[in-house]
Amino acid sequence: TVGMVCLDKEENIVAGTSTSGLFMKKKGRVGDSPVIGSGLYADSEIGGASATGLGEDIMKGIISYEIVKLMESGLSPQKACEKAVFTFEKKLIRKRGKAGDISVIAMNNKGEWGVATNIENFSFVAGNEKTPVKVYRTKRKG
Ligand code: ASP
Repeated sequence: TVGMVCLDKEENIVAGTSTSGLFMKKKGRVGDSPVIGSGLYADSEIGGASATGLGEDIMKGIISYEIVKLMESGLSPQKACEKAVFTFEKKLIRKRGKAGDISVIAMNNKGEWGVATNIENFSFVAGNEKTPVKVYRTKRKG
């Protein structure tokens, strides 16, 4: 999956998510990536988010919408990503003993960005007018 969130000079937020789907997926399966709220969500008054990982779990958590709502309630993109991923992961583990892979990126309407993952390592790229585009690697925190 390739996901992105961008903020333009007129303060529009856009999010996009593209995927070939899960390896060995069943014919006809629709994952989270094209589902607004799950694979991606954007609201120019707040921010946007994009997700990758096990679509069946991401859809249950409507995780991109959740991140945008957490940013709306005042959380930074980083805190919103962490809260959405790790709260939902705990719930999945409580309910069925395991959680799928979930990694997310987000940006708010000030251009601040965040990222969270429940896998060991997750690479992403970020940049803006002041900070050149750079590859970052994040580790699981929760
Ligand atoms: N989320 C995608 C899906 O479940 C797969 C991926 O992120 O690689 O279809």
